[in-house]
Amino acid sequence: MARIFAYIVHKGGIADDSAAELIAAAKKIDALATPTAVVTGWGAELDAVCETLRASYGEVWKVANQALAYPNAELIRKALVTVLPAGSIVLVPHAHFGIDLSPGLSIKLNSAYVSDVLGIEGTDGNWLKVVRQEFGGQVSAHVRCDISSGAVINIRPGAFKPEESAPVNGVIVDKSAEVGTLTAGRRYLETVVAEAGDVDITKHAVLVSVGRGIQEKDNIAIAEELAEALGAAVSCSRPVVDAKWLPKSRQVGSSGQTVKPRVYMACGISGSFQHLAGIKGNPFIVAINKNPKAPLNQVADVGIVADILEYLPELTNKVREARGASV
Ligand code: FAD
Repeated sequence: MARIFAYIVHKGGIADDSAAELIAAAKKIDALATPTAVVTGWGAELDAVCETLRASYGEVWKVANQALAYPNAELIRKALVTVLPAGSIVLVPHAHFGIDLSPGLSIKLNSAYVSDVLGIEGTDGNWLKVVRQEFGGQVSAHVRCDISSGAVINIRPGAFKPEESAPVNGVIVDKSAEVGTLTAGRRYLETVVAEAGDVDITKHAVLVSVGRGIQEKDNIAIAEELAEALGAAVSCSRPVVDAKWLPKSRQVGSSGQTVKPRVYMACGISGSFQHLAGIKGNPFIVAINKNPKAPLNQVADVGIVADILEYLPELTNKVREARGASV
């Protein structure tokens, strides 16, 4: 079996939750796999991430270069091509940055590429069998991928639940010297942080999140009532913001906020990868959808098949009853 690497996305000295999920995905490829973390960046933030990763990865490859201080996929691709051995299997989170990085990386490594993988069914000789979604999650495609020359695989955030394990006290291997001068045609300018807005959904432990299934602006009130009964906040998917039913500050996802609640109730949300990319911290996910095949059900802890316009008011009443408040 080829060596498995996990590309670690990090920010502000903290590794993304996907760092643990990529280990779970690697174990699905090979139960005995001990994937190697590969981390690019610069300075104290990079050092802090590498140090944290030693607890979960046996080997952490550190690639420090001032040109890698900001997330520029073109430069990181060049650095990875230099350090990764031929034939490697490289796991990368399927979020905006990973999607930018991965196809070109597979071309440079002369290896296979599969995007948006949410299931791994094991290997059969040189074939790796994976499940990925197409047509906005309406179709689950079972794909065989030839890994004889290696592969770059985008792993959907949230699809592989990390397992609890004892700290491994891994080693940091400094690969920085192998990377020469890095230049690129594109230049990093700045990161624009979204404004918090009236309600800061990133600070709430419970979120009642509504999607297009809420159907019209007036129906947002039933989600707000449930949120009030639960002591939660209302967040939403992008179509709800596009329709101006809620402000942009309530949007969860890759072009909205990243949230880390303990409980995430997705009401009438299908579960696109752009939406799921904004849900971090492995929360308990409750999906309420009238379509039992909605993609969100595949990552939810509980899936409830119901019409939210009827179900949410009933649930609100039950919560109020349970809390002893008047209905
Ligand atoms: P839909 O996909 O239309 O799903 C609606 C769901 O509601 C369906 O599953 C349906 O079965 C269910 N439903 C309908 N009526 C009811 C009912 N009465 N009761 C129960 N269930 C019902 N999306 C985000 O959310 N956040 C982002 O940050 C984001 N960024 C994006 C960035 C880019 C560059 C692009 C291209 C897209 C982005 N998107 C984002 C959009 C994303 O691709 C999806 O289109 C979006 O997440 C779908 O939202 P939804 O699930 O609410 O709607």
